[in-house]
Amino acid sequence: MNKPFQNIIRSDIRAMTAYAVADVPEGSIKLDAMEMPYRYPENLQTELSNLLAQAPQNLYPNPATSGLPEALRQAFSIPDTAQIVLGNGSDELIQLMTMLVAQPGAKILALEPSFVMYRHNAQLFGMEYIGVPLKSDFSMDVDAVLEAIEKHQPALIFIAYPNNPTGVCFKREEVEAVLDAASGIVVVDEAYGAFSRDSFLSAAGSCEKLVVMRTLSKIGFAGLRIGYASGHPVVMRELAKIVPPYNMNQLSLTAAKFALQQQSWINGCIDILKRERQRLALGLTALGMEVFSSEANFVTVRVNDALNVFETLKQNNILIKKLHGTHPLLEQCLRITVGTPEQNDAVLTILKTISLKK
Ligand SMILES: *Cc1c(COP(=O)(O)O)cnc(C)c1O
Repeated sequence: MNKPFQNIIRSDIRAMTAYAVADVPEGSIKLDAMEMPYRYPENLQTELSNLLAQAPQNLYPNPATSGLPEALRQAFSIPDTAQIVLGNGSDELIQLMTMLVAQPGAKILALEPSFVMYRHNAQLFGMEYIGVPLKSDFSMDVDAVLEAIEKHQPALIFIAYPNNPTGVCFKREEVEAVLDAASGIVVVDEAYGAFSRDSFLSAAGSCEKLVVMRTLSKIGFAGLRIGYASGHPVVMRELAKIVPPYNMNQLSLTAAKFALQQQSWINGCIDILKRERQRLALGLTALGMEVFSSEANFVTVRVNDALNVFETLKQNNILIKKLHGTHPLLEQCLRITVGTPEQNDAVLTILKTISLKK
């Protein structure tokens, strides 16, 4: 008897649900995906369009000789001892790092809740995933992590620093303790590094185990899909072997190099968002919400009725992320991307009407 055609596809994949990219009504305030709310002023837009028009679309891209790795090294003071690999967003690099260690018996460890792609990729590559719960204040349970490392000897550990979806940044000494204890690779994912007080980037290349991952997505360029990993050559040269040859495209490479020449504009935006993060957090606290201290460009809160808050904002065309229901520790939690002062005011104004009704 013939098996149904769809059995050709792995049953674990058929059982998955697709990553839901929210469909956003025109005119909404989009505070669900940590995108930066600012775009280039007109003069920079014009300059960029001229550059893009001249980019060699007829030629295959060569990321290594595009000048982008050097520009990143300069812009973010990446040590000479570190090697850089570009990815089509850091999402691609998370996948490639997983592929690099995926062999029978190899395990992946990450903290829970954290970025969902760590677990997702472990599953895709048939690896056992060890999720170590955070404490209830979203700090790292170092003893539990060290115990799990000892027991499972994971080939790969992912630490989001600061963490998503909580915004909390772990203590540097805690991450260092994990690095010391690890027998495998430790990826410190600094997607929100630009908004944080601390970074491991200056340590990249100093230790074989450490890979620091960053992205341009959260600092204004989510649409370009530019991520990068920097680490010791022993690991990075193996990673370079499995990067698809033309994973970056000419337009993105051109636009990313241009972006790095606009550092003062980028830094100006980051400064505004960090100030707004503080103002938003204070405003939400004043409304009686539990606000977790954030080092990222979003604020995670706990409320009495997450669904009601989420729906009320949605009815007012403001889209945020409902974390409630995604992990036991995230009960009644919501994640709000920091927007422009006007957008944040809109959030606070609407939330005031809810708390008054209670
Ligand atoms: C957003 C995010 C990423 C993905 O970034 P891209 O470069 O856009 O793929 C990676 N890690 C964490 C923790 C993130 O929040």
